[in-house]
Order: sequence, then C-alpha cells, then structure tokens
Amino acid sequence: MSVLDHMSQYGYEQLTMVTDPAVGLKAIIVIHDTTLGPAAGGTRIWPYETEEAAVDDAMRLARAMTYKSAVADLPLGGGKAVIIADSHTEKTEAMLRAYGRFIETLGGRYITTTDVGTTGRDLEYIRQETRHVAGLPTAVGGSGDTSVMTGLGIYMGMKACAKEVWGSDSLAGKKIAIQGFGKVAFNTAHHLLKENAQLVVTDVFEGALDRARGMGLEVVSPESIYDVESDIFSPCALGGILNSTTIPRLTCRIVAGGANNQLLDGSHGDELHRRGILYAPDYVINAGGIINVEAEIGSDYNPERARERTERIYEIMERVIRLAKTEEMPTYRAADQLAEQRLSSVQNIKQIYRSARPPG
Ligand code: NAD
Repeated sequence: MSVLDHMSQYGYEQLTMVTDPAVGLKAIIVIHDTTLGPAAGGTRIWPYETEEAAVDDAMRLARAMTYKSAVADLPLGGGKAVIIADSHTEKTEAMLRAYGRFIETLGGRYITTTDVGTTGRDLEYIRQETRHVAGLPTAVGGSGDTSVMTGLGIYMGMKACAKEVWGSDSLAGKKIAIQGFGKVAFNTAHHLLKENAQLVVTDVFEGALDRARGMGLEVVSPESIYDVESDIFSPCALGGILNSTTIPRLTCRIVAGGANNQLLDGSHGDELHRRGILYAPDYVINAGGIINVEAEIGSDYNPERARERTERIYEIMERVIRLAKTEEMPTYRAADQLAEQRLSSVQNIKQIYRSARPPG
C-alpha cells in the first residue's frame, strides 16, 4: 500500500519529512489526528536501518498517541517524530535546533517532548527555536522529565492487573522481568522496589546495565529476557517485541510495560488472550508522561494534580479489563474501543457544529 493510501485508511492528517544536511538532520514528523487537540508526542532519536522503518515507526507511534490521549481523557491529539541518528554519538545542539525550527513551521499543530534517545537537555535546545515543546526540565520552568510520571502510571497499571490476576494488587515478592533499563524502566523500578518486587533486567546499552547492577538488580542478556521465569514481563524498550517468536517463550501471567506499540500486530494481542496472559495495553498504562505534559501545556503546572491524574490509570486499566470481560474480547481491543468511542463522539459534535453554522 502506498504511504498516502495508508494515511487515508488509518486517518493520518500529515506526514512531514525534513532534512538539514549541514547538521546531519533527517527527521519525520507525523500528525495522526487533531480531533481532540494539538497533536502531542515525543521525539525518538534512533539509528533506523532504513527510511521505511523510520516512517513506519513514526506513523505507528503517532497513531498510538491519538489513542493514548483519548483513553486518558486529555484534550490532545496524536503525533510523533523520529530523528534518524544514533543518540549516543550523532546528536548535537545544531541538529536539535534545526529540528526545532521545523517544528515551529507547523504552528503548534505538533507539540514535542522526550522519547527514546532524547533528554530534557535536548528539549532545551529545541526550545531555543520553538515554543511547541513540553516536558522541559524544572530548572528552566518546565514540568520535568516525562518518564517520572510514565513510571508511576505503569506501576499503577501493573497493580490493577495484579488485582485481577491474583486478587490483590500487592506486587511484593512478584518477579518482574524488565526489557530495557532506560528512563521509563528506571522510574517504574523505583516504585516496584519500594514494594519489594524482585526485578530482573536487560538492556543493549552497557551504561544502562551498569546502573542496574549499581542498584543491586539481577541482569540478563537481551535475548534471554523472554525466558526468565517471571510473574510479570515488562517491555520498556522498543515496539514489536510481542510476536509469534517471543510470546511462546513467556511464562508470566501479566504483560505490563512502558514501551509503545509492543504488539507486532493485533493477532499477537489475541494470542496473549488465548494463552491466558493479561496484557495491559501499552498506551493505557504508559500515559503518565503525556498526562504530565498536558498539565504543563494546559495551565499553571501543578505536580500534585498531574500525579493524581496519573494514578487514575489504575481505574482506567480496571475499566479496560471490565469491558474486555463483558464483551469477551482481548484487552487491546477493549482499549481501542474506549478510545474510538471518545474520538467519534467529539467528531460527531464537531460535525453537528459545522453543519449548524450559517453558510458564508
Ligand atoms: P530510553 O532511551 O531512556 O530507554 C530505552 C532503553 O531501551 C535504552 O536504554 C535502550 O538501550 C534499551 N533498548 C533498546 N533496544 C533494546 C533491546 N532490544 N533490548 C533491551 N534493551 C533495549 O527511552 P525511554 O524514555 O525509557 O522509553 C522507553 C519506551 O517507553 C519507549 O518505547 C518509549 O516510546 C516508551 N515511552 C516513553 C515515555 C516517556 O515518558 N519517556 C512515555 C511513554 C512511552
């Protein structure tokens, strides 16, 4: 299918590809849907092997943001951007500022924040060129790193799943295998360790593993994380990792993590359901960051309010589980249904408003 056909079929509004050879910038900015508000979503910096892989990732991530904000009841649409580069070796101030100038040209239709490969410091460089950035460090007046609230939300979502599976939401003593030990995983681990969960982690970046070892955590190789005997598997790296090769290896009762687009496709959500593994839809439980971002964009930032809203992910996850049980469907479909209901109700109201306006 051509990119334009794909965009029409899945409701994408805009795909922007930008380059600035002088600073090595190659980026793709995708606005999926602005029904509920400006498209918001992070910037991922990753050395994609092909341009197609980068476009595909940006599009999937942008659409997930639409669903994420819809389920979290936020006045935001869905968007995402990727910069094709190695964040450890190729990211520079000049590159980020050039990228910021392109975001500015979108006039606020896209608001960016952090994702894999970006930090608060990077957002400060982007902010030099555009106001349409959120999640800036608190030292410069922002709401701080989004992954702090993302970690809290994942923890709350995991607890709601534990309640369903084991009848108690306590995670004490539960063995949790975490894939990826970056910002989100670290902030999730913080809550899990306070509750005396037992963590086993992996990462492909030695610096992340050193940090885990420094915290006294058990570390395994990236390939063996799927084989760890665990109660919960928590994907906190990249997408597409729940697929026909990995799912048969899982021994857990729950999959709940922060990575976006964990299911390679919907059939893998069906497969988890068939195997009796409760899947916490990624965009439901990793919404803490965007909730925090919205609190920064929408009004004077109030961390307590952002925290309370993030804690509500527990109830949203319960709602998803309830709907899935009532309708006898996998949880990923129940979550999609909740998001689509909200989107279509607002689209209908906009439609009515448009047709009620006098002509001219
Ligand atoms: P990050 O870059 O800080 O951490 C990601 C980590 O995953 C890195 O340490 C990386 O080396 C590791 N990794 C990559 N591929 C791996 C593999 N195959 N096996 C093991 N480890 C691997 O990024 P982050 O902000 O922690 O984001 C993690 C995930 O959560 C991403 O999918 C992101 O889109 C999603 N997410 C992030 C936020 C946020 O607030 N930062 C919010 C919602 C969702």
